[in-house]
Amino acid sequence: MKALVKKDAAPGLWLDDVPIPEVGINDVLIKVKRSAICGTDVHIYKWDSWAQKTIPTPMVVGHEFVGEIVEVGSNVNDFHPGQIVSGEGHVVCGRCRNCLAGRRHLCAHTSGVGVNRPGAFAEYLVLPMSNVWEHKPGIDLDVAAIFDPLGNAVHTALQFDLLGEDVLITGAGPIGAMAAAVCRHAGARHVVVTDLNPGRLALAKRLGATRTVDVRHESLAEVQRDLGLTEGFDVGLEMSGSPAAFRDMLANMCHGGKVSMLGIPSEEIAIDWNTVIFNMLTIKGIYGREMYETWYKMSVMIESGLDISPVITHRLPYTEFQQGFDAMLSGDASKVILNWE
Ligand code: NAD
Ligand code: ZN
Repeated sequence: MKALVKKDAAPGLWLDDVPIPEVGINDVLIKVKRSAICGTDVHIYKWDSWAQKTIPTPMVVGHEFVGEIVEVGSNVNDFHPGQIVSGEGHVVCGRCRNCLAGRRHLCAHTSGVGVNRPGAFAEYLVLPMSNVWEHKPGIDLDVAAIFDPLGNAVHTALQFDLLGEDVLITGAGPIGAMAAAVCRHAGARHVVVTDLNPGRLALAKRLGATRTVDVRHESLAEVQRDLGLTEGFDVGLEMSGSPAAFRDMLANMCHGGKVSMLGIPSEEIAIDWNTVIFNMLTIKGIYGREMYETWYKMSVMIESGLDISPVITHRLPYTEFQQGFDAMLSGDASKVILNWE
């Protein structure tokens, strides 16, 4: 089968012929229809220091996808050929305390699809049945292909009560922009999104941000005054990984404000802990998606009208993957879909 492979320990990806993966007794074999490029794939493409210490070569990469089940292992009763599915990209151990308690997103022994095990930028993908999510009938395939990053947005956004609350989202990348849509859908009042990139801010606005802020030209204190917020933001979603954005967020939260942190900083961040203490802030780290409460919430929000499709900026056949990665590297793209049909 055709697959995008990190063949050598060097920048780039190679379109190659590799064997179709073997289907174990607890596995399903999925014929991939669409996949999407994630920031993680860009790290692997660039072969930065994280990728160098994390990715064994050769490796079929990619983890955001939708496809059709074509074969199931002998132990698999709950899935059958023909179902349209995506998959949770974190394969958990199943035996640790958290896994046994049903808190699988907290497993400390996860293996990543397209990171530690063969991924979804391929014509076929094998996943354990415990990682398969069946879509509702009629789902748009491009939207289904980005359930993984939508799940990051949903997991982060739904940590705290949003109904009637004023939300600050720092970072209007694809995940920040989708989080804006989720917050509006969940009944937030003001959804203020910050970034330094006007194109990304425009996209966040299309997805439902009530106010966008280019922090190079405008301060959050001014925005608060404009909006008549006298006590600060109730909920903060950090989705940039930027130390400056995180500090700015902490300084603009209300007393008792709640912050969930998804953005991955590249180094340690120093913050004013007095703000956290005297303003009694809650800060919660977020990783991945909850298995499978986040997936359930995604499916039902899409069914009840959540529209994240504007976040898709590029649709390409998989053979044009280089163009897709170039668009990601330029900062012009939000979500890039690769078609494998
Ligand atoms: P992205 O890099 O596309 O978007 C980040 C955005 O933040 C960019 O648009 C950038 O211009 C903006 N930004 C940079 N400095 C800023 C500042 N000072 N103020 C405001 N905005 C600023 O990333 P993404 O794919 O949307 O993902 C969002 C973040 O979440 C990234 O840090 C990513 O690494 C992280 N992530 C975490 C998990 C997890 O499980 N914790 C999963 C996926 C992604
Ligand atoms: Zn575990």
